[in-house]
Amino acid sequence: MRDAAAANWAGNVRFGAARVVAPESVGELQEIVAGSRKARALGTGHSFSRIADTDGTLIATARLPRRIQIDDGSVTVSGGIRYGDLARELAPNGWALRNLGSLPHISVAGACATGTHGSGDRNGSLATSVAALELVTASGELVSVRRGDEDFDGHVIALGALGVTVAVTLDLVPGFQVRQLVYEGLTRDTLLESVQEIFAASYSVSVFTGWDPESSQLWLKQRVDGPGDDGEPPAERFGARLATRPLHPVPGIDPTHTTQQLGVPGPWHERLPHFRLDFTPSAGDELQTEYFVAREHAAAAIEALFAIGAVVRPALQISEIRTVAADALWLSPAYRRDVMALHFTWISAEGTVMPAVAAVERALAPFDPVPHWGKVFALPPAAVRAGYPRAAEFLALAARRDPEAVFRNQYLDAYLPAA
Ligand SMILES: Cc1cc2nc3c(=O)[nH]c(=O)nc-3n(C[C@H](O)[C@H](O)[C@H](O)COP(=O)(O)OP(=O)(O)OC[C@H]3O[C@@H](n4cnc5c(N)ncnc54)[C@H](O)[C@@H]3O)c2cc1C
Repeated sequence: MRDAAAANWAGNVRFGAARVVAPESVGELQEIVAGSRKARALGTGHSFSRIADTDGTLIATARLPRRIQIDDGSVTVSGGIRYGDLARELAPNGWALRNLGSLPHISVAGACATGTHGSGDRNGSLATSVAALELVTASGELVSVRRGDEDFDGHVIALGALGVTVAVTLDLVPGFQVRQLVYEGLTRDTLLESVQEIFAASYSVSVFTGWDPESSQLWLKQRVDGPGDDGEPPAERFGARLATRPLHPVPGIDPTHTTQQLGVPGPWHERLPHFRLDFTPSAGDELQTEYFVAREHAAAAIEALFAIGAVVRPALQISEIRTVAADALWLSPAYRRDVMALHFTWISAEGTVMPAVAAVERALAPFDPVPHWGKVFALPPAAVRAGYPRAAEFLALAARRDPEAVFRNQYLDAYLPAA
């Protein structure tokens, strides 16, 4: 994060907090929350929306005591820990997380709170691995919830509205190997014709595109589980050619910061993210926008975006298309439906970006898109809320956990107004 006290990672949100604190114990955190009229947790500050903002106390979680406790088949971690740091402890012990986002630098609690996801037809968002949470609620009380509790599914993707998560228990799977194959020259026509087959072709699939009809990149992250899985990869998939040198998702950018490609098998945490933990991620200054549409609209939605390629390109660094499996979490964009995630990494100039965002929203309107909670969007609040059939139950849960609305902020007032 650039300046924890003042702004988010991208620098497009200057926090309006009266004070920023970084408690070093759970007891200190409890006192801070209990004594705050308004408060909000801050993870690694990688959200581009105003979701983490408050005019009261902004509570950075990074200095809370680090906890990584591996039990058989699960791990309990402090909420502020970064996925990349956690993975480095899990892998030598033979364990893995089922999936990761594109970047290992984000905090576990912050990522889960916003529905952060990777890709894979059968992979739910990162929040679907959450088996239990410990959080400090508005009164300063430390409470625990676990899978199976009546309203657990409302607690996991909670946008920071229920309290400060101090511990997260995540499901583990046995460690696994992955190889990454990148194909160049995927055409628009093939993508539209074969979109479901393309996304079913690997454990995790990303299509990177600048909406040029001739030149998208296909990234296949294949599990290497058994004999033969690491055999010679096909030179061509879906008409696209196997890359023979490492590539950055943004054409022309040095790929040094990307994880190992060229089919070299390696541990899950060094292949599932696109970017290495050791390097400054992504292409530098940027804004991001992402929408989720039901998987059955995939081809039509992608076609609509190709049609406005010339309009978005001046603001665009690169787009990424991924899939996320359905889940039961109340505020999940994938609530009870498999979704296609349509992502835009923009340049950092808001004046150029916002007209492009509006064009994307118009193009996707027939498909009832819902935006990523943590990214830039301009959809009207009613359209956002309409995407969440369990919103009323979530608001009732928030009113129970936080009757004085300590964790409410302008973002929640806009998109999930209290009844
Ligand atoms: C370069 C880059 C790449 C990205 N890649 C992906 C991707 O692959 N997939 C994807 O889906 N998203 C992606 N994102 C978006 C990012 O994952 C989300 O914005 C995520 O919320 C960031 O986590 P954070 O810890 O920075 O959260 P913050 O931005 O700090 O906070 C987000 C929300 O979580 C709440 N929160 C944070 N910590 C806690 C806590 N301990 N307890 C309770 N609430 C808390 C905050 O109050 C706030 O409401 C990316 C962002 C960047 C900058």
